[in-house]
Parts: sequence; structure tokens; C-alpha cells
Amino acid sequence: MTQTNYAFFRVIQSYLERAAHAVELSSDVAAILSLPKTELIVHFPVRMDSGRLQMFTGYRIQHNNILGPYKGGIRYHPDVNLDEVRALAAMMTWKCALMDIPFGGAKGAVKCDPRALSEGERMRLTRRFTHELGGNIGPDHDIPAPDVGTGPQEMAWLMDTYMNGVMGNVKNAQRAVVTGKPLSCGGSVGRVKATGQGVVHCLVEWARDHDVKLEGARVIVQGFGNVGSHAALILDAMGVKVVGVSDHSGNLRNDRGLDVLELANHVKRVGGIVGFKQAEAVSREDFFSTEAEFFVPGALENQVGAAEARLLQVKVIAEGANGPVNPEGEAELEARGIDVIPDVLANAGGVTVSYYEWLQNKRNERWNLQEVDLKLETSMIRGYRAVRDLARELRVPMRIAAYGLALKSLGDSYAVRGVFP
Ligand code: NAD
Repeated sequence: MTQTNYAFFRVIQSYLERAAHAVELSSDVAAILSLPKTELIVHFPVRMDSGRLQMFTGYRIQHNNILGPYKGGIRYHPDVNLDEVRALAAMMTWKCALMDIPFGGAKGAVKCDPRALSEGERMRLTRRFTHELGGNIGPDHDIPAPDVGTGPQEMAWLMDTYMNGVMGNVKNAQRAVVTGKPLSCGGSVGRVKATGQGVVHCLVEWARDHDVKLEGARVIVQGFGNVGSHAALILDAMGVKVVGVSDHSGNLRNDRGLDVLELANHVKRVGGIVGFKQAEAVSREDFFSTEAEFFVPGALENQVGAAEARLLQVKVIAEGANGPVNPEGEAELEARGIDVIPDVLANAGGVTVSYYEWLQNKRNERWNLQEVDLKLETSMIRGYRAVRDLARELRVPMRIAAYGLALKSLGDSYAVRGVFP
């Protein structure tokens, strides 16, 4: 099974080293990119419903901003730590560079269990964390977004808190301080499903390349939150059978295909997939051994180690989550001929539509769903094909090719700008 004490940032640094070698990145630029530029850790109090004060720890890691303002989600999870946030921040730099989005990379987190907090406690925590971040975020400096444990509601509180600290005629321009907002606060249509949609675009391209028919194909999905549920719903609507789903509460299997809409309603009601009647509850091992063409991990990092990789009976993995396959898992998958569409490409639909939201805010525009969907599809297909082609040319895994493309773009920028002073 997967390792405990996973050194996630070291793993990301090792991919960077391998890709830097593959695309002959200058060693100076590789050195700069091997560490984040800024690391902020804050400890702050929140008044709980019981009346007592509780201290929380929050992070904002700004990895790199040579291509544009820092960009990256905010995670609420009881196990978050500095190492994990560093890794996730660096991946945002690669993701934006790969997708040709003029943003840099950052990530934030608060160590807390959002399921154990009331709505009022989550609101006070979000507002106080935003206050602690203060001038370290901003619409042209560092733009947060949702991640595990946060969603449009947290983004609305963040935006409102930030805007309340700004006076006068620039107040409304501050909406762009965060993306993934509700539509009523300047959010974009298509943002909620964007990450899952991007995962699906990658799978469609892979299926075309490998002559796999989508209609009647099968998928297993780990995580049924924002990314996993939307990937499952979209694939289901395309005729792909969702034969296995897993989340923090349990694992389900139904070889005829689950009713994904019903499952989504069940999760809304009870907070997890546990207790869903129209599927068999199975063990984690049984979930991983379910026969299917596709696997979408959409939960957390370090979920597929060597043991899980040996169990999997799929043809391709599209990493909806960040870092779900660890290096031992990846080596095993490579040996078994199972393809991996890497996170920095597969889940880039989220930051892509976040960029569209930011542009709409900046221009005071409202785009329609057709425009957003078409732009996203074009961008995902371009990204997928560029990564696939470089992987073939350099004879490296798609992950190294994706990092390689990102590094070329970052390297070009450093080459002309030089290093200050
Ligand atoms: P979420 O909080 O909406 O959902 C997380 C899901 O993971 C939940 O269903 C939860 O039950 C499940 N989960 C947690 N622990 C698990 C475990 N041990 N085993 C199985 N399932 C478990 O989060 P999300 O926004 O969907 O993010 C999921 C992943 O996708 C993360 O890696 C995140 O960084 C990545 N991602 C998210 C976005 C986005 O737009 N939200 C964009 C890019 C990447």
C-alpha cells in the first residue's frame, strides 16, 4: 500500500530534475524553480460555536510568478502540511506554463477538518485566514481558488472579506482576487465542472489515439467531490459506464454501471457515498481491481503505490487529483503498460476556466457556457497533443513531457529577462 510520511515536494523536485535534463533546461533556471519564492505560515484564532477560541494554522506558498500573478487553490484538510503545500504550489507553476496561461504558481491551505466545522465556523475561519493573508494576495498579485474541502461558498467569503478592506472607486475591481466564485459574485459559468470536464477531454483524446470506443467503455473513479463527481457525470452522459466509485466513506462497485446522478444526490444528502443502495459495498482492494478501461483518481495525492498499481485492471489513468500516483506506482504502471495522463495536464481545466473567470472580471464581461466550453476544449486538446507529441519525440513518459513543455516556456522567459539584479 502507499507510504506514510510521503515526501511529496521531493517527488515533484525529482520530476523537475528529470524533465530539466530531458529538455536541457539551464541549471540556473532549474535551481530557481527547485524552491518556492515565498512561504507564508500564519497562526490565527477563530471563535467556535461553543464560545471558546481555537487556534488554526494556515499556509500560502508562492512558488513562481515569472509568467504572471501567482495562482492556486486553497485546501482545508486535517493532514495538510508545509511539504504538501510546497509540492502543490510548484505543480501550479508547471500547469499554467504548460497550458500557456499567464499566471504563476501558488497554493494555500488551512489545517482543519471542514466536515467537523459548522457553516458559521467555516465562515469565520475563512474570513480570518483571508485577513491574515492581507496584502499577500490580490487580483494582480496572487489569486486563490477552490481545492479539497473548499468551494464557491468559501471563495465568496474570501472575496467579500478582501473587498471590505478596500475603499473607493477601486473596490469592485477587487472581485478578481479569487476565482471559483458563485455566479452571483462574478463567477464564470462552466467553472464548477471545469476540472472534471478537462479530465474527460484528455480521456477522449487518448481513446481516439488508441482506438478505444467510449460508448460502452467503463471507468472507475476515486473521490466523488468536485473533480470526481463531474468527471463521472460527464463520462456517464457520453455512454461510459461508471462501474466503481470510492471516497473517504467507502468503496462501491456495480458492473452494470452506477446511476451517477442518483449517487450525486445521495452524496449531497449524506456527505459521502456510504449507504448508497444501488451498488455493492466493496473493499479498497476490490475497488482498485475493478475491471475498466479508464481510472480517474480525483481525491488526494499518494493513492496509487506499487500495490495499487499491481491491482489495477485499466488501460489508462487520467490524474484528476494532484499527485495521486507515487513514483513506485508509476514504475509499476509503466512496466504493466498502463498509460498515465499526468495531473498537470489532466486537471488543468480548473485553472484554465479560472483564468477565463479572471478575464471576465477584469473586462466586466459575462461569457456564455458555449464560449467557455469551446475555449476549454480547444485548450485541453492543444495541451494534450503537445504533451503526447513531445513524449513520443523524447521517448519519455507523458509526465516528463508535460513538465518539459512547462520548463521550456519558463526557461525562455528567464533567458530574455535574466536574473535580478
Ligand atoms: P473535494 O473536496 O471536492 O473532493 C475530495 C474527494 O476526495 C471527496 O469525495 C472525498 O471523500 C475524497 N477522499 C478524501 N480522502 C479519500 C480517501 N482516502 N480515499 C478515497 N477518497 C477520498 O476536492 P476536489 O476539489 O474535487 O479535489 C480533488 C483533487 O483534485 C485534489 O487533488 C485537488 O488538488 C485536485 N484538483 C482540484 C481542482 C478543482 O478545481 N477543485 C483543480 C485541479 C486539481
